[in-house]
Amino acid sequence: MQEFAHYAVSSANSRGRRIQEESPFGRSEFQRDRDRIIHSTAFRRLEYKTQVFVNHEGDLFRTRLTHSLEVAQIGRSIARNLHLNEDLVEAIALAHDLGHTPFGHAGQDALNDCMKNHGGFEHNLQSLRVVDVLEERYGAFDGLNLCFETREGILKHCAKRNAKKLGDVGERFLVSQRPSLEAQLANLADEIAYNNHDVDDGLRSGLIVQEQLEQVGLFSRHLTMVRKSYPKIRGRRLIHETVRCMINTLVADLTRQSAINITVARLEGLSAVRIAPLLIGFSEEIRQEQQKLKKFLRDHLYRHYQVMRMSNKARHTIEMLFNVFSSDIQLLPPEHQVKYQQDGHQAIADYIAGMTDRYAIREYQRLFAIDEN
Ligand code: MG
Repeated sequence: MQEFAHYAVSSANSRGRRIQEESPFGRSEFQRDRDRIIHSTAFRRLEYKTQVFVNHEGDLFRTRLTHSLEVAQIGRSIARNLHLNEDLVEAIALAHDLGHTPFGHAGQDALNDCMKNHGGFEHNLQSLRVVDVLEERYGAFDGLNLCFETREGILKHCAKRNAKKLGDVGERFLVSQRPSLEAQLANLADEIAYNNHDVDDGLRSGLIVQEQLEQVGLFSRHLTMVRKSYPKIRGRRLIHETVRCMINTLVADLTRQSAINITVARLEGLSAVRIAPLLIGFSEEIRQEQQKLKKFLRDHLYRHYQVMRMSNKARHTIEMLFNVFSSDIQLLPPEHQVKYQQDGHQAIADYIAGMTDRYAIREYQRLFAIDEN
């Protein structure tokens, strides 16, 4: 059994589930949450959803599934060192991207635009909707009936107008309180994971090259260290070793700095976490270095013309799907027509958001190519 700090979330101080259930046998409440997430349909779909590269572009790029596993792995090791609830961090990490549309951010932006007269579309909110409503697995309830703290961690951001409709998990956005340290940690583990794997994937794709990245302090500092330790190292192994060292530096810094922040805050318990400032964080120096890496990735990878071309196709595909279903509901598969009667355009958004990259491409062909069915 893991030893928790008094400010960590535990089965004992949890605000519990929306529908009360008996305590699980032989595992904690948060292990049960994690297990429910892994068994969900939305979790399996993560394998065929992407962030930067679309699924068919290559087999070695990160998918949302491998991304989520990396977030969980990074989050868990930091949680253990800070005596936070490792199972909760893992559950949040594995669920944090469940609501993402196909085709990464381009898909999310397109669906948000399509939904602008129907309440908009936010992927964090959609992740919560997946675990609260959309999963159909249990006899006693819709969704996965997860603990409050897991749901709170999944809802990383939320517009105030939406927060008002959410009840308990929306509250903190209205009164400007912080989520648990476990939720704060899962959020930053996400950042560590994507910054580093996007460097790796970006180089593998050839869209960015090592010489460009050498202009970025965090990367060049670690590259120099690796070359010093292994003078003959070249190619992919050099990149892997450098990325590995960067992750290590970020994890160590986040652990050290957060431990200092927690000590200084003299937390009396879990409720003190909510009114304290954000306590899980990097040192100022590393934070700035990471910002520079993020900016580099934005300018050179996410806005690379080849990525932009794919994003444009993604946007077009999502818009076409949304518009065709909105114009004639009978084009939706029957079970989604039934949901439309109840949820209106949200049912179309749910259907599209649930698609994998390849499913969305196939569905587009089925709807618009005359020789497909
Ligand atoms: Mg993520």
